[in-house]
Amino acid sequence: MDYYGSQINNLIAHLSSLPGIGGKTAQRLAFHIIGMPREQVEALAKAITDARNQVRYCKECWTLTDQEKCPICRDEKRDHRTIMVVESSRDLAAYERTGKYEGVYHVLGGAISPLLGVGPGDIRLKELMQRLQGDVEEVIIATGSSLEGETTAMYLSKLIKPTGIKVTRIASGVPVGGDLEYIDEVTLLRALDGRTTL
Ligand code: ZN
Repeated sequence: MDYYGSQINNLIAHLSSLPGIGGKTAQRLAFHIIGMPREQVEALAKAITDARNQVRYCKECWTLTDQEKCPICRDEKRDHRTIMVVESSRDLAAYERTGKYEGVYHVLGGAISPLLGVGPGDIRLKELMQRLQGDVEEVIIATGSSLEGETTAMYLSKLIKPTGIKVTRIASGVPVGGDLEYIDEVTLLRALDGRTTL
């Protein structure tokens, strides 16, 4: 039944299409937004469209950024000869929060999953291999410990080894199937420090 009228229902429908937002939360948010000062609502709407319009992939590491190269790739103080391979920009952010990693990253944009039909050609492996033609000393594979993450790590190490570049894998200590994003910084640092050569 249409209690609210189509404008409100439209807003609720859009909000509830977002991940992690159920019908009740969408309703609460919709009413909250409607009650907000008009300028604040406009600022929110603008932040959403600006982010969508201006955010793109870093041409070097493929993380999300709003310039040609992300701040990490632009930073000359970082060690550009050490590349940590992660599945997503969120994983990159998790490692950045530790404040201890000095190298750069490569964001794959997913992991190999035969079950879901995601093959090696569907993630940014080609782009990584291109980067490895430059001056690279170590590749740290920090894909998750899920089946997909492990499959990707194995595939990557086979691909990189013939180049002679050192390949390491973060230590398990990261819970199986755990999203890197939700793991605390101490565990992430331990996983990084305890990495082993593949
Ligand atoms: Zn970058």
